[in-house]
Amino acid sequence: MNLLQICKELYPIYRSITGNGVRESLKILQKYVNFKIHEIPSGTKVFDWTVPEEWNIKSAFVVDLSTNEVVIDFKNHNLHVVGYSVPIDEVIDFNELDEHLYFNEKLPSAIPYVTSYYNKNWGFCIAFNEYLKLNRSSKYKVFIDSDFNQNGSLTYAELVIPGETEKEIFFSSYICHPQMCNNELSGPVVLTALASYISACKLLKYTYRFVLIPETIGSIAYLSKHITKLKKNVIAGYNLTCLGDEGEFSYIPSRLGNTLSDKIALHVLNSNFPNFISYSWLDRGSDERQYCAPGIDLPICSITRTKYGKYPEYHTSLDDFNLISENALQKSFDLYKQLIHILETDCYPSLNVLCEPQLGKRGLYPNISTVNSGQTVRDLMNFISYCDGNHSLLDISNILKLDYTNCIDLYSKLFKANLLK
Ligand SMILES: [Zn+2]
Repeated sequence: MNLLQICKELYPIYRSITGNGVRESLKILQKYVNFKIHEIPSGTKVFDWTVPEEWNIKSAFVVDLSTNEVVIDFKNHNLHVVGYSVPIDEVIDFNELDEHLYFNEKLPSAIPYVTSYYNKNWGFCIAFNEYLKLNRSSKYKVFIDSDFNQNGSLTYAELVIPGETEKEIFFSSYICHPQMCNNELSGPVVLTALASYISACKLLKYTYRFVLIPETIGSIAYLSKHITKLKKNVIAGYNLTCLGDEGEFSYIPSRLGNTLSDKIALHVLNSNFPNFISYSWLDRGSDERQYCAPGIDLPICSITRTKYGKYPEYHTSLDDFNLISENALQKSFDLYKQLIHILETDCYPSLNVLCEPQLGKRGLYPNISTVNSGQTVRDLMNFISYCDGNHSLLDISNILKLDYTNCIDLYSKLFKANLLK
């Protein structure tokens, strides 16, 4: 699966927290994975929030009437219009227009990403360089053809892949960002790759749940519908975001920081990416806010590449295809596959003999002793010393500072020798 290619398919579609762009994007992802698409009607109460009216936009532009030149056009970049802008068709002077223009002086060639979901307003976003060129004495025609529908809905996608047990692993990413790459097409695309990978797995210990939702309101709405089941079954999960750039991996813990998800994340990062950046819960900013909220307390944490808000192009038009690569997306996909591998294989080995087993008669003790074989025996004996049914393979791997794969090998040896319960 070429992940960059999927990003390219999704990039031009205008997405927001509701609307046809979300549906169109999810339909594209359905080509790869059998996601089910669900709609929650506008006006539905979801915990302390209400699902907003569905918003769609056809066109938006600003014309300088002194030259008849279109100076801002939504057609050229989706970020040019403030998300959830109300419709407008007026002629105004520059000063009035100025109150509705957003730009970033520090990044003068970037169009910033601005939304006004819960406040009825309108606005345009523009590169500061372009802003400086606007004629202060002109009149401007401002036009936004947008539509609010109180009979609309909020759209999300879900895929549940059943395993041997009802216990679940949960993956979530968001589908509400318009025309930017790292934040956020990388999350939905890596999630789709993972869902496709899990769909093809034959024997699954756990049930896997994948959701693609609009950020904040989507996770709140999803939780309000599914919280009882999720609290009962989810044992680990991850919020996928910012996975496409070449920066170091970054870890954002769950609120309490001691869940199985955190433990596995830290193990994989420490073993394979020792230069990873570790953030605190106080640095959070994505849907882990909802998943770990008091009373919700799902075991969800996040591993990103460069974290949202920590790269200059974040939430601007410069978060484009110059920032992400197939290589980085695949590396992120591989990392999440490693987490899944540990989840699926981890167990609590328990010895079925008292005191040390006699390894020699089982062919587990080398006949000729060398320095190397000494270490191998030592690893095996150390491993055996923790086979008490209270330490998982992951725990033992951490205690012995031994690669998880080596622990699996030791486990297999003992299992084949009938030494484990
Ligand atoms: Zn964002």
